[in-house]
Amino acid sequence: KSNYEHCDQLVQDFEKVVEKPIKSKTSVYYTGVDLGTACVVLSVLDENYKPVAGAYRYADVVRDGMVVDYIGAIKIVKELKEQLEEKLDTELIYAAAAIPPGTDALDSGAVKNVVMGAGFELTNVLDEPTAANKVLNIENGAVVDIGGGTTGITILKNGEVIHVADDSTGGTHFSLVVSGSYKMSFQEAEVYKRKSENHKELLPVLRPVVEKIASIINEHVKDFDVNEIYLVGGTCRLTGIEQIIEKKTGITTHKPQNPMFVTPLGIALSC
Ligand code: ATP
Repeated sequence: KSNYEHCDQLVQDFEKVVEKPIKSKTSVYYTGVDLGTACVVLSVLDENYKPVAGAYRYADVVRDGMVVDYIGAIKIVKELKEQLEEKLDTELIYAAAAIPPGTDALDSGAVKNVVMGAGFELTNVLDEPTAANKVLNIENGAVVDIGGGTTGITILKNGEVIHVADDSTGGTHFSLVVSGSYKMSFQEAEVYKRKSENHKELLPVLRPVVEKIASIINEHVKDFDVNEIYLVGGTCRLTGIEQIIEKKTGITTHKPQNPMFVTPLGIALSC
C-alpha cells in the first residue's frame, strides 16, 4: 500500500472507533493528546498501533499554539480521558502530546503539565508536523497544517524537516468571514461552516481567505524545491480547498480523506 493509502486507512479506522470504540485484548493502550486552538482530540491505539477509541471537543483553551486556559485544558483532557476509559473499561496510562514547531521553549511545559494534570504518564512530546509525518511518511514536500488558529508550513527534504513556519490564519478566520457574510453569530457560523452540505455554497465566499493561505504557502516554499503539498488540519475538510491551493501554488496538492485526525493519530503513534 502507498503511504497515502495507509494514512487514509488509519484515519478511516479512527473515525469508526470515535463512533464506536473497540475493546481490544491489548496489554497496553497508547493515547495521543492534541491540544488545538479550536479542538482538543484524544486518540487511542492498541499495542499493535490500531485505533481503538477517540474523542474530541471544541474548546477555547489554546490560542496561537499557547495554552491560555490551563485549568480548562486539564478539565477537558480529564473528561475526555474518563469518557474513553469508561467505554474501553480500562485505565488509560500512557500519553504523548504535541506542540507547534518553535514553541518548545515557550510552552511545552504547559502542554506537559496539562497532560500530566489530567492523570496521564507522559511518554513523549513532539512537534506537530513530526507527528503528522508519522502518519503521512513523506520524504520530500511541504506539510501544510491548516488548523483553527494557525497555518503551519513544514518543508521536508529526504525525511528531514528543513524549514518550519506558522502564520496566524486558520479556520477561525473562515468562520469570521461566514459570520460577516451571512449575518450569523460566530458560533452559528462555525457550525454552518463545518457542515459538508454547505461547502459548495461557501467555497466562493471563502475563496479569498483560501487564496491568502495559498499566498502564505507560496512565500514559504519559494526558496525550496517543493513538488508536493500535503494538507492536514481540520480546516482542510472544506470541500474544494485543495483545488484552490493547487491552482494558486502550481504545486500538486494532496489531501487525505479526513485531514483533521492525521496529527492526533501521529501523536498516539509516537507514544
Ligand atoms: P491549531 O492547529 O490552530 O492549534 P486545532 O488543532 O484546534 O488548531 P484542527 O483541530 O486541526 O485545529 O481544526 C479545527 C478547525 O477545523 C476549526 O476551525 C474548525 O472549524 C475546522 N473544521 C472542522 N471540521 C470542519 C469541516 N467539516 N469543514 C470545515 N472546517 C472544519
